[in-house]
Amino acid sequence: MKYISTRGEVRPIGFEQAVLMGLADDGGLLIPETIPSVADSLHAWSKLDYTNLALELFDLYIDDIPRGDLKEIVVKTYSADVFEPVVAPLVKVGDIYLLELWHGPTLAFKDVALQFLGNIFEYILSKRDAHLNILVATSGDTGSAAIAAVRGKERMNIFVMHPKGRISPIQQRQMTTVLDENVHNIAIEGDFDDCQRIMKTLAADLDFKRKYSLGAVNSVNWARLLAQMVYYFWAYFRLADTADNRELWVEVPTGNFGNILAGWYAKQMGLPIDKLILATNENDILARFFQSGEYRRGKLIQTLAPSMDIQVASNFERYLYYRIGQDSEKLREMIRQFSQSGVINLPKREDEPIDDLFLAGKANRDEALETIRKYYQQYDYLLDPHTAVGVAVAEKMMQEGTSSDGKKVVCLSTAHPAKFPEAIR
Ligand SMILES: *Cc1c(COP(=O)(O)O)cnc(C)c1O
Repeated sequence: MKYISTRGEVRPIGFEQAVLMGLADDGGLLIPETIPSVADSLHAWSKLDYTNLALELFDLYIDDIPRGDLKEIVVKTYSADVFEPVVAPLVKVGDIYLLELWHGPTLAFKDVALQFLGNIFEYILSKRDAHLNILVATSGDTGSAAIAAVRGKERMNIFVMHPKGRISPIQQRQMTTVLDENVHNIAIEGDFDDCQRIMKTLAADLDFKRKYSLGAVNSVNWARLLAQMVYYFWAYFRLADTADNRELWVEVPTGNFGNILAGWYAKQMGLPIDKLILATNENDILARFFQSGEYRRGKLIQTLAPSMDIQVASNFERYLYYRIGQDSEKLREMIRQFSQSGVINLPKREDEPIDDLFLAGKANRDEALETIRKYYQQYDYLLDPHTAVGVAVAEKMMQEGTSSDGKKVVCLSTAHPAKFPEAIR
């Protein structure tokens, strides 16, 4: 498998190089040249444990790491002492299923992909006798998960920029109390978009990027999306155990559009997902886009779900590329216009959705808190504020239109509630 850039100005490269490059050298995002179909393998895959499922999936997208080596990396990544007791348990609560993705070291779903990425980096760098300076912009969870993934590893330094005073105290401690010599925290006076802009500016300076061997672990890095695809398959197979033909809806609490885009790829590969429900908090640029076709930058609002406090979603470019027919030239023009005007418009017919696969909605602070309260009182289950935004939106969608009997709704549970004690209290 070769990787190309959404902006069309990087010659095809292999997986290892794509992982090292992070953001594409032309400023775009790296994507696989083709999306493999696995419709014929689903039955065989349904019997696999998490590690072997991940291995099969990764193998389709990685052909420059021998399978034996890849297996070692995957086994080490998803072992029971990293994810306790398992990577992604699916639990039924009320009318929905929650896929708990926070059993890793920093209690958020980002561990699932970043633990993999840290180990992949270690492998590639030692093979090439190379070093990497990893630059991260974080709204809270990525930074701590990235630090947990590379702390103490040789050949890597990590520099994490977080918006000063805008992350939860626990997130802050998870990052700043790690004393390994290769870990560096930088508090930025600004918001997450400012952090992300600094990172993108540095990554776009190719001389600087080469001179200092800059690497990226944000969800611009293809390896993250790859690792996140696995649990969509995993959840589907767990539900298929209780075989019937109901529709599968997957709801994803969304910020940078990375997690839900992994679901989109899984669907393109042949996983029978009927709807992806995109849930946002008050920072609803993406929800508005899927409703109206207009992607318009707004003002950033601080909420109880800080990891979703994002206006400009870096992974949106990958989606847009496919949505406009894989036309890099047109994409470059749209991105150029967006950087000037803060708006992208896709033509939309009155009676047609922007994309049949997506439902999109937002839940505000009160709705999220009410959802946390309700699930605790009715089911004795504590949701974190990000997951609660998602569940609130999923419930709205289930009430609209057809009755909920017609479908199974999986909500991705993206963090453990203990990470956000202020909101819970
Ligand atoms: C990062 C994060 C999100 C948003 O995921 P994206 O891939 O950025 O859309 C949601 N919830 C939690 C807890 C997160 O850490």
